[in-house]
Amino acid sequence: MTITGNQLIGYSRSGKGNEKFSGPVKNEHGESYTFHEATTGEIDEAIQKAHKAASVYKQLSYTKRAEFLEHIADEIMAIGPELIAITMQESNLPEARLLGERDRTTGQLRFFAKILREGSWLRAIIDLPSADNPAKGDLRQMQLPLGVTGVWGASNFPFAFSVAGGDTVSALAAGCPVVHKAHPAHPVTCELIGGAIVKAAKETCMPDGVFSLLHGINYQTGLQIVRHPLVKALAFTGSFQGGKALFDEANKRDEPIPVYSEMGSVNPVFILPGILKEKGTELARALAASNLLGVGQFCTNPGVVVLPDGGATAPFLNDYKTTIEDASGGVMLTDGIYRSFNKGVEAMESHSDVALLAKGKQLDKKSAAVPHVFTTSAASFLMQEELADEVFGPSSIHITTQNKEEILSVARNFKGQLTATIWGNEDDLKNYRELQHILEDKAGRLIINAMPTGVEVNYAMVHGGPFPATTNSATTSVGATAIYRFTRPVCFQGFPDTILPEALQNNNPLGILRQVNGKFTTDAII
Ligand code: NAP
Repeated sequence: MTITGNQLIGYSRSGKGNEKFSGPVKNEHGESYTFHEATTGEIDEAIQKAHKAASVYKQLSYTKRAEFLEHIADEIMAIGPELIAITMQESNLPEARLLGERDRTTGQLRFFAKILREGSWLRAIIDLPSADNPAKGDLRQMQLPLGVTGVWGASNFPFAFSVAGGDTVSALAAGCPVVHKAHPAHPVTCELIGGAIVKAAKETCMPDGVFSLLHGINYQTGLQIVRHPLVKALAFTGSFQGGKALFDEANKRDEPIPVYSEMGSVNPVFILPGILKEKGTELARALAASNLLGVGQFCTNPGVVVLPDGGATAPFLNDYKTTIEDASGGVMLTDGIYRSFNKGVEAMESHSDVALLAKGKQLDKKSAAVPHVFTTSAASFLMQEELADEVFGPSSIHITTQNKEEILSVARNFKGQLTATIWGNEDDLKNYRELQHILEDKAGRLIINAMPTGVEVNYAMVHGGPFPATTNSATTSVGATAIYRFTRPVCFQGFPDTILPEALQNNNPLGILRQVNGKFTTDAII
């Protein structure tokens, strides 16, 4: 395995920067892999190349784009076991998890290839002049790409939310070249996956510049991407601090562009009285397991649990407590994340209105998180905003409520979330319809009687939500409709058939589903 530590600028490698940083792992000679910080010139070159590539890339057939995505998937698989081995070292994530995540990532690439071939994603809409109103124009709408897209990945998904992750694949599928800022927590993984994308691009004859990868451990690399006038959209996955900083920076641009920052969330879980009595024990263990999953390092981790105070509450809390006490957390992704986790739990521990319910075991390993669970009352939770902040890792806070009105008040008090979950039996769900309606305004995905962890890649998935879960609540970062973050509708009025894009031509050469005069059809227009 050769790791150059260079930038991938389209088809060229470049290491002009004198400043270097070390990755978290060492090579077979016991030396750290080092990476050149991208220079101002290199960043500009990558964006200029991407801009040039954009006009060629958007004209390619959707089949060619689909082949490119499938080829990326093949190239990632072709890296073989050494990819998994190095990512395990860089992320501290176990082999089985990474094998699954790699499959999810390649599956996502193939899924978007399928979407491109099927074609209805283009949202082709045609209004024809009618015989009784010939003055009415011939208007035809479809989706076109926004242009060069800057992408940032998160450390907790080194494949699925990183270099070839959901943001990159949906932008490439939409027809947008991508300039990706490599995550310094897994830079070797970034270079390997970036290399796979470049190889796939070459082999499928994509324009040079359709993809670039830039390294940087100081924020300047990212900020220069945000500020560059040729960049037309940004997609970020990571912490609130990072996502909001990039969003704020983008708002200083002369030309506003969409910024899709997908950030943290506490994913509240509401347990209603009936189900608490019926299934308290089972639920406590399953919920604790969901909180502990992946050392709690999932953006959909259930960080806040809301439950009624009553006879069934003490046994539920006791079961949750025992599960946490028996658990030993695990090594976190990075030392920085471990430090933030400890800061978060220390803040909870020292809070006068919060009680520590249980602590897990301390592993004798560097950066190993100790699981925590806290309790507080609804009255305290409602008064103190900071209790609803994400503590990224295996920690949760349980809020006890005195009555239905308090449950609803707690729900109303939440800011935007990726998910919100209700556990209830049939009667609970009938009696708490209002809770459902409140949560519809709070989260991108509402869940009944299941755990929030686990985000499927399919047509209906929404992985997003109101601020502060994201900076744009109208979209999703996972699933088929993620593509619309990188397209805009364009209307062609009065065009002769011969110069219309194929998707809008009368005979429907792509054979796609279109809306013609208000009706969905795959028929040609005669
Ligand atoms: P992170 O620290 O925000 O890092 C993400 C990327 O942003 C890195 O490349 C980082 O560069 C950069 N960055 C961070 N702060 C920045 C700033 N102020 N200016 C410019 N660039 C900045 O996030 P992480 O620790 O990797 O990921 C964990 C977080 O991601 C958790 O909060 C989790 O909930 C969230 N997450 C959300 C989703 C979602 O879909 N909503 C999915 C996965 C994870 P440096 O490393 O150089 O700082």
